[in-house]
Amino acid sequence: MKPAQVALLYQRLHDRTPNPETELDFVNHYTLLVAVVLSAQATDAGVNLATRELFRTVDTPARMLALGEEGLKRHIRTIGLFNTKAKNVIALSRALIEDHGGEVPADRDALEKLPGVGRKTAAVVMNCAFGAETFAVDTHVFRVSNRTGLAPGKNVVEVEAKLDRVTPAPYRREAHHLLILHGRYVCKARVPECWRCVIADICRYRPKTPPPGTQEVRPKPAPGPAPAGRSAPPPRSRRAPGKPAP
Ligand code: SF4
Repeated sequence: MKPAQVALLYQRLHDRTPNPETELDFVNHYTLLVAVVLSAQATDAGVNLATRELFRTVDTPARMLALGEEGLKRHIRTIGLFNTKAKNVIALSRALIEDHGGEVPADRDALEKLPGVGRKTAAVVMNCAFGAETFAVDTHVFRVSNRTGLAPGKNVVEVEAKLDRVTPAPYRREAHHLLILHGRYVCKARVPECWRCVIADICRYRPKTPPPGTQEVRPKPAPGPAPAGRSAPPPRSRRAPGKPAP
């Protein structure tokens, strides 16, 4: 995709969602970190449902340790992998107290050393908490980047590096949110809603999905990211991530 097309793509998404932000609920940097850890392989809505009560009283690492692993599990048992996540949240809370004075470090490497915090989580926290120009690649960002041709790649590391390379100012800070929300609400995994897409004329995905009722659409599996360092399986079809305003 040419630089002018990339800029136009971001401009269109920005015009549609001028102030994109995470849909996870949080009250401070610490609860943001916990929410992002809990959101792995879970929906933001599901996480918000579980943390609404939790974050009213537990909003610091010390309070989390006081709650304890079993107490935390009672709050988050509706979230997938809650046993492992509870263990990680308790461990990362302890690490924050012992190594960072109880504060969330504004340092990606330090974040990635925390239990349960991977590359994507650290990137999200750096972006949402500290305004860093990071490009967290989740399933939505991966899909949109590949379908559109914006930043095609076989795995999340490749896509992240390409997004970093092609994304121009002034969209670098909000790119992550723009792409996630576009993937979540328009460029959906099973059937992308091309007929109402503001970047349809720029996007390379073919064939475009027609409006409902005008033609049968056979859902095709969306490409998912391969683990970093491994190639994704070849595509099985012939082709080949702020909430959009109404
Ligand atoms: S045109 Fe279709 S495939 Fe391309 S970004 Fe829009 S919804 Fe996704």
